[in-house]
Amino acid sequence: MKNTNSSFPHFFFDSKPVYFAFPDNVLDYDCSSCGAKCCRGHGFAASMDRELPGLLTRFPELAYTAIRHSGNWTQFFNLPGNCFLLDGGHSCSIENQLGKTMKPGVCRAFPFNNISSSDNLLIIAPHFLCPLNLTQNNSGLSHKGSHAEIFQELLETGILANHSMHNKLCINEPIDSFLNKEVILRDICTQNIGHQNFSSSISGLSCDKTAHNLSISRAERLMGLDRCKKLPAEMTDDFLLALAPMFSISFSDLPVLGRLKALALTESLLRTIFALNNNTLSLQGLAITFDHVASIIHLFTCEHTQLPDRANTSPNTTSLKLLNLKDPQISMAAAIVIRLIQRGVPPLEALEEAVPPEMPIVNRMVLFQALGRHLKRYWHEQTESVSSPTTEIHNLGPHASSILPVPPCD
Ligand code: SF4
Ligand code: SF4
Repeated sequence: MKNTNSSFPHFFFDSKPVYFAFPDNVLDYDCSSCGAKCCRGHGFAASMDRELPGLLTRFPELAYTAIRHSGNWTQFFNLPGNCFLLDGGHSCSIENQLGKTMKPGVCRAFPFNNISSSDNLLIIAPHFLCPLNLTQNNSGLSHKGSHAEIFQELLETGILANHSMHNKLCINEPIDSFLNKEVILRDICTQNIGHQNFSSSISGLSCDKTAHNLSISRAERLMGLDRCKKLPAEMTDDFLLALAPMFSISFSDLPVLGRLKALALTESLLRTIFALNNNTLSLQGLAITFDHVASIIHLFTCEHTQLPDRANTSPNTTSLKLLNLKDPQISMAAAIVIRLIQRGVPPLEALEEAVPPEMPIVNRMVLFQALGRHLKRYWHEQTESVSSPTTEIHNLGPHASSILPVPPCD
């Protein structure tokens, strides 16, 4: 990444830097018009020492909705229609009766409770169950995405200290180097909202634009994206600039140039999908759609070649069985890709060799989804300082956290 006009995060917890993977003061939400989406069927978790004693004193029946303990937290279920504590269908009884500070910590921190961590880094991202907006500085609405305010709230809830509620980060470079690049990306994206398009913001950070563009063109050809209608870039640019830091964290195991390629391919795929219906375009829609395609993008932009069953090059490998592919054309292509990667061929090249020109796009996507999900899980498991995204966080409900990462060229 070329631009180094940046600074490290200003926030630290337990001597670890705390990085906010979204621009400061540009996200906003409006509970009064939302209908309490986050309080309907997702459960919540409460800290056993901070808020639980007071809650059980005031609402003793709550004890019967407990599901499990996770570290110092207890998880509770609620109904699909609404939380047992949702007053009049729109406001929280706890907040109404006991005050905001007595709300379960995960509810209080929502929607900025999507936390990822490694031994020496904490990353905060938004949770897109909440229909967050992109706030214009002159809109007159209060900004609720202030890093300083969110940090204070997180400190008070105790969530930062609770590793059982964090996604696990997979980073293959020194933390300082990784973080420096991510801060640069976030700051450039922040500066460019409303001023510059997403595509040039991202490619401008790459120290090898030719390789960057070539790699994206190859991936687009293989996915057929080069032949598809796309939503005009100007409709998505500001949304993507706001989301890019969070998307980049999803590719944290890739080197910076891989992360930049992944972001560029993300734009291409999302603009194609949203050409189906641009009425659905929103930060929330883009973030949720990204979740569904992130493993494909990872597959196309990573260069990992280590694979299970290295010694066994038969198509009937464990990897292939796990993919559970029924269609012979898709299974054959998957077998070829796996065999080529086992032989050290980078995934994009392997895909180009394995996918026959006549394969329909829908079959390609099924293949890419299966390979992307399976291989990303495997590659993450192989990374020493990491593991695959935790499932425990999802078990705690969205009020706990969910999804969920360019560097100067050295
Ligand atoms: S989903 Fe977001 S906007 Fe809706 S009630 Fe929850 S925090 Fe407020
Ligand atoms: S804020 Fe939490 S406890 Fe309160 S109603 Fe919503 S889900 Fe229930």
